[in-house]
Formats: sequence, structure tokens, C-alpha cells
Amino acid sequence: MNIFQKIKKTIKDMSPKNIFRLTCAICFIFMVAGVINLHNAVSSLMPQEKVKVEPTTVNYTEFMKKVTAHELTKATILADRIEATEKSGTEIVLYHGRILTEPTLPKVMDEAGVEVSFPEEDAPGIGDYIGIIFAVLFPLSMMVFFVAAGTLLYPQIKEKFSASWMRIVPKTGVTFKDVAGQDAGKEELEEIVTFLKHPEKYSDTGARVPCGVLMIGPAGTGKTLLAEAVAGEAGVPFLACTGSDFSNKFVGVGRDRVEAMFKKARKFKKCIIFIDEFDSVARVRGASNSDVGREQDTTLNQLLTEMSGFGKRGNVVVIAASNRLDVLDPAAIRPGRFDRHVLIGLPDIKDREDILKVHTEDKIPLDKDVDLNVVARGTPGFSGAQLEMLCNEAAVLSSRRGSKLVTAADFESARDKVLMGLESKNKTTDQAERKLTAYHEAGHALLACANPHSDPVHQMTIMQRGTALGMMMRLPEKEKLSVTLAQLKADLDVVMAGRAAEEIVFGKEFVTSGAMSDIERATDIATNMVVNWGMSEAIGMRKIAQSPLGYGEIVDREIKAVLDGAYLRAIETLNSQRPALDAIAEALLERETLSGKEVRAIYKASLEPLAA
Ligand code: ADP
Ligand code: MG
Ligand code: ZN
Repeated sequence: MNIFQKIKKTIKDMSPKNIFRLTCAICFIFMVAGVINLHNAVSSLMPQEKVKVEPTTVNYTEFMKKVTAHELTKATILADRIEATEKSGTEIVLYHGRILTEPTLPKVMDEAGVEVSFPEEDAPGIGDYIGIIFAVLFPLSMMVFFVAAGTLLYPQIKEKFSASWMRIVPKTGVTFKDVAGQDAGKEELEEIVTFLKHPEKYSDTGARVPCGVLMIGPAGTGKTLLAEAVAGEAGVPFLACTGSDFSNKFVGVGRDRVEAMFKKARKFKKCIIFIDEFDSVARVRGASNSDVGREQDTTLNQLLTEMSGFGKRGNVVVIAASNRLDVLDPAAIRPGRFDRHVLIGLPDIKDREDILKVHTEDKIPLDKDVDLNVVARGTPGFSGAQLEMLCNEAAVLSSRRGSKLVTAADFESARDKVLMGLESKNKTTDQAERKLTAYHEAGHALLACANPHSDPVHQMTIMQRGTALGMMMRLPEKEKLSVTLAQLKADLDVVMAGRAAEEIVFGKEFVTSGAMSDIERATDIATNMVVNWGMSEAIGMRKIAQSPLGYGEIVDREIKAVLDGAYLRAIETLNSQRPALDAIAEALLERETLSGKEVRAIYKASLEPLAA
């Protein structure tokens, strides 16, 4: 390390206070230097005294006596005095104070053999004035410069070195008990807790060390809370920051902050780093060629570098939270980085009830008429944070009435109040839309149950996720390398059944735009069947390439025929098994999420009366 690096490092490690002090000290030195300089300049302006030997002051009479006695050799006539040298070498001076009006004196002295001279008056020259100006202006300007630079740079310096953006909690005191529901998330995070508690187990067995967990889910679903709980359960410090802390207006701050954060984290040996709003750091790199984009790239690069160096550098686990996975840079979610993904969804009825319990137990005294299950039923689409708000609001309302106990009516009014603030945001709370979504998803599910060639239903929900109002998910029982025509047909039927159910239940005029992604999916399958997989009789076993104008009329007609066929089959099946459709839709409206097992049970039960 050379001296410059050393100095750079020292300055970097200095606290803003010390930097400010240093600036002040430098200013002070300049001021002192300026004052000394000024003194010199001023004294240089003063008439220069020849202070070798102090000349003896004489009066006029004595002086004239010496002149006439030829005792003087030299005399210099100055404005206010005459300086003369005696033969013996002693200097004398006669002060006349400009009242010497005797013009004959030089002549008299000259005649007495004295060498008379009139030297130039030493008036201050222009150079002296420039000297003064410099002497005053230089330190002044230096002072102004340093103060200005100090004030200008102070915020940046502070940004750079202060850690106020980081929230450091030595003990969070939060445990998994404080987080209701989110069982899948907890299970995944349990491993992180184990790792932090017993890291040696991991290094002994050579098991892959967890280093990055990404939590994906809508706002207010308890992501921060869960991260705190991990730190609490493991008994390690919790370092929290937000993605936007790294997208600072000053260049390089993001990168430096990442570095600072990990430095701090490693000091703790074991700890959790929590990065909220992760998408604002980890957007796809190189996506924008702007300065902001490049700045973000370096920040993310730094983060990934710090993370890949883990294991060796202490047991630090990074937990990041974001509400969207799609915008994240794939490099960030590669193995060895944020490779563990935990989906945190909105709570369903049972979870909502648990969350309400967490936030009322020991905190809010409830009246006997309050049934949290009923409250949970009445709050579809609420997040954990909104439920907490609901509890607080209810408590406020009851205390306003002067009552000690919170009643069911309080919860009702509180819900209306919270809802009013959410109305526009929460579409699922619209009852008509919920019902339509329930039937749409039930249509998909029913066809999946009815057709033995379809993959079984895994889970379904009418809770809003992103832009989707609901979803029905199937899972193949085993990995498939090729698909049969029967399976493809079953897939098409299932996909078509959403819109078909809407039409059957609500009428042709009331179908919605909600089937957009279904249509896309179905068109993909049908197109592949016709042009790639030789499953259309009119086309036969031919591969059809797409021209700029499309596939051509015959192919388009074939695709439409395949789709129409599927739609008709879906309508038929739904009509013939209407009770099952109603049963699944009703169960969904009541419970919001259903597991595959539950769906199959409902389907079977509603078929039995038919069979009997
Ligand atoms: P996110 O980080 O996902 O936006 P937070 O963790 O900040 O959500 O949640 C905000 C608050 O909502 C929490 O402090 C907690 O009081 C409440 N909350 C959210 N989810 C839950 C839950 N599952 N159990 C208990 N409380 C919850
Ligand atoms: Mg949060
Ligand atoms: Zn659908």
C-alpha cells in the first residue's frame, strides 16, 4: 500500500465529524499564514529604518555648529530630517519636520565641505499594493473555497460514510409465533435458522450453505416480519435496508453502501441482511443505457460479488423481499445467490383468522359477540398489514364509544373504513366479480376432474395475484417428455372451460376479458397441433412454416376448428355436470383457496346423487 492509498483509506474511514474538523483546521492554517503574510506586507510599506546604529538626534544649533566646524563628511536631506555622518563615523540626525524653509542650507553645507545628497523618497510602489492584495485575498479566497467545498460536499460525504440508512437491530425479539400462516415460508426459512445456529454442521457435511433468500409477495403480507423472525429465532442481529437506499442521486454511493453493509455484517460474524424492495436494485442489468441504469448495474454487481464470496467470510444470510419476480435480473437468482425463493401470498380465510388472533390476543379485549372467523370471512383480499390496521381501527372505535370491549359492530365499521381506503385497489372485494372469478376457475377445475387425460388439480384460488383475479393450477403426476393427442385435447378443454363457465352461468353477453391468457394458451396449443405436430386431418403430417402473412387460410381454419371443438366439449361437460360446477364455485367463494384433494372431494360428492 503506497502513501496515497493510505491517505485515501484514512480519509475514507473518517467520520463526517472528523472530516469537518479537518476542513476547519486547514482553513485555520491558511488564515494564520495569511495574517503573517499580511504583517510582512504591511511592514514592508513602512519607511525602512537603517537600524544598524541608532543615530544621535541633534538640534539645529548643534547641527550648524558641526557644519561650520567642518566636522561632517556626508549629509542626506530627507523630507522630514537630515541625516549626516561625522568624521568620527558617528551618525547624527536633525529632525526638521518639513519646516526647513532655509533654501541656503544645502549650499552652506556644501561650502563647508559636506557631501550633500537628496535621495529618492521611498514611496510605496505598486508592487507593494499587489503584495497586500495577495496577502489579504489569498487566505480569504482559500477560506471561502474550503467553506464552500465543505458545505457542498458535506451531504455527499455524510451519505457516503453515515450508516443511518441501515437499520441495525441487535435483537429483533420477533419469533415465528408472531407470524400467522405462511407455513410454507416458515418451513423454508427454518433451514436458515438452523444454519445460523449451527453453521458447523454445514461446513462438516459439505452441504451447500444458504446465502440468499428471495421472498416474493404483495405488500403487507409479512415479508419484513418473517425476516425479523428468522433473525429473532436464530438470535442474530438484523441489518435492514431498502433497495432504494442504493439508488442514490450521488454516483458510486450505491456500490459503496453495499460494501459498507457487508463490512458491517461481517463484523457481527453471524447476521441477517434484509433488503426490502429488492427490485429497485436488481432489475435486469443493462436494461437501460442511462446513467441511472449503469449505476444500478454496478450496485448489483457489487452485491453479487459480496454474496458469492460468502461462506469464507462469515455466516451472513441475505434475505431480499420484492413483490415481483419477473423484473429481477436472472443473474441475481442464480444458484449461489438468491437461489431460495419463498412465495408469500395474501392470507386465505384460515390465515386471516390466525393473523386477527395474533393482533387481538393480549392486546385488544374482545366482546363475546366477536367471532374472528366471521371477521376473516368478511375481509377477503386483506393483507396481514390491513388486518392489523383493522384491529387497531376497531379498538379506536370502541374506545371512542367509551367502551372497554371491542364488539363485532366495531369490526364491521372498522372494516368499512379500511375498505373505503382500499376500494379502488382491491378488486376482489367486489362481490359480483368474485362470483364470476369463482365460476371461471371452477369451470377449469371441473373439466380437469372430468377428463381422465388431464393432469390433476393441484390448487386453486380466487385471491388476486398480480393481475390475475384467480387461478387453477394443475400438476403433472410425472415428468412428461411427449404429450398424447388425448392429453392435448384435455388441456384445451380445461383451458376453454373458464370462459365456457362464464357463458353458461352469466349469459353470452356477460363474459369477461378475464380469459385473455387462457385464449393465448389455447391458441398456442392448437397452432402447434396443426403446424408442428401433424394432428389436423386437413394438413396431415406436414410442417408448416410461417410466412410474414401468417400460416395461410387453411391452417387458420384448422386452428379455429380445433379451438371451437374444445370450447363445445367444455360447454357440454359443464352443462351435464352443472351441480358440480356450482358446488366448486360455492366452496371457492367461501374458502377462497382449495387444494386439489378438496376439489376432487367436492366433485365426487356432487356426482353421487346423479349416480344414485
Ligand atoms: P411486507 O414486508 O410484506 O410489506 P410487513 O412485514 O411489513 O409486510 O407487514 C406489516 C405488518 O403487518 C407487520 O408488522 C405485522 O404486524 C402485520 N402482518 C403482516 N403479515 C402478518 C402475518 N402473517 N402475521 C402477523 N402479522 C402480520
Ligand atoms: Mg415490508
Ligand atoms: Zn381462466
